[in-house]
Amino acid sequence: MKALICKSPGEFNYVEKDLPAVKENNVLLKMKRLGICGTDYHAFEGTQPFFAYPRILGHEIAAEVVETASQNNFKPGDLVTISPYFSCGHCIACRNGKSNCCVNMQVFGVHIDGAMQEYISVPADAVVAGQGLSVDELALVEPLAIGAHGVGLADIRKEETVLIIGAGPIGLGTIAFAKIAGARVIVADVNYNRLAFCSDQLGVEYVINPIKTDVFARLKEISNGDMATVVIDCTGNLNAINGSFKFLAHGGKFIMIGLQKGTIEVVHPEFHKREAMLMSSRNALPKDFAHVIDCIKQGVVKPLDFISHRLNLNAVKDQFSQLAGDQSVIKALIDFD
Ligand SMILES: [Zn+2]
Ligand SMILES: [Zn+2]
Repeated sequence: MKALICKSPGEFNYVEKDLPAVKENNVLLKMKRLGICGTDYHAFEGTQPFFAYPRILGHEIAAEVVETASQNNFKPGDLVTISPYFSCGHCIACRNGKSNCCVNMQVFGVHIDGAMQEYISVPADAVVAGQGLSVDELALVEPLAIGAHGVGLADIRKEETVLIIGAGPIGLGTIAFAKIAGARVIVADVNYNRLAFCSDQLGVEYVINPIKTDVFARLKEISNGDMATVVIDCTGNLNAINGSFKFLAHGGKFIMIGLQKGTIEVVHPEFHKREAMLMSSRNALPKDFAHVIDCIKQGVVKPLDFISHRLNLNAVKDQFSQLAGDQSVIKALIDFD
C-alpha cells in the first residue's frame, strides 16, 4: 500500500509499505477521506512544537472497516471516523474523565504515525461509528469536535455575547456550535473570505475585520458597553491573544482553543477587576464527537459547506505547500477513492 511520509520539514516522500498488522483490540481501516489540518501544515513547515520526524501526518479521518481483531461493535464495511487522541486511561486526567488532556497523550498523526496512507490500524475504542453520515461529513467530525468542546467549556447561556477571534476551520466550527448554544456571535478575522463565509453560510450577524475596524470600539457599540461575556481565541496568535483580554466583560470567560508556544501576557489589574476566568481547551471528548454527529444528522451543522478543496493522495506531495499558503482554502480533503 502507498503511504506519504513527512521525512523532515518541507520534505514529503511516497513509500510502499505492507498492510499494518491488526493487533489485538485493533481495527483495520481503509482510508476514504482525510481532512488536512493546521497541525499538518505546521508540521510540514517545521513550526509545530514538540514534533519529531519522520512522521506520517493526518488525523481527520473517514474510513471503512476492513477487519477487526477482536469482538467489538464494528464489522467490515462500516463507515467510521476516529477520535485520534489516544489516552492512557490511568493518569490523573483520565481518572477524572478528562482523557482529552491525558498526561501521556498520543495523538494519531502527531505523536505517532497517522493517516496519509491507504490503510491504518487503530484501537477499537478510538473508532467512532459513522451513524449514516457520508465519508465527506465524517472527515469533518474531528475538527468540529474541537470547537464543540471549547464551546462546552464556555457553558454559554442564550443570547450571551460571544466574541470568536479567528475564523479558520476550527474557528468556523466553534462559531457553529456557539450559535447552536444560543449565543449572539461576533467574529473577528483579518481574512475577508472567511468573514464572508461567516455571514453567508453560518448566519453570523456581526463580523469585524481588525485591519479596517477597531474591534474594541465596535464590540462596545454592539454590546451596549457590556463587552463579550465569552471570548474564544481560535487563532493561536500571540498578539491576537494578548490583545483580546480587553474585549472581556466583567465576570467573563476567556477560552483559548488556538495554541501558542510563547508566553501570554495578562495585565493583572485589568484581569482581576473583571474576576475573569482563563481556560485552555484541548482536543475533544467522546461526548463532543457524539454532539457533533447529532448536530450533523439534524442538519444544524453542515460540514460539506466547509470543504473548499479536494485532492488525491498522489497529488499531496506536489500541492501541499501551495494549499498551506492559499487564502481561499477553508478545508482541503484528501480523497482516497
Ligand atoms: Zn485537526
Ligand atoms: Zn491519561
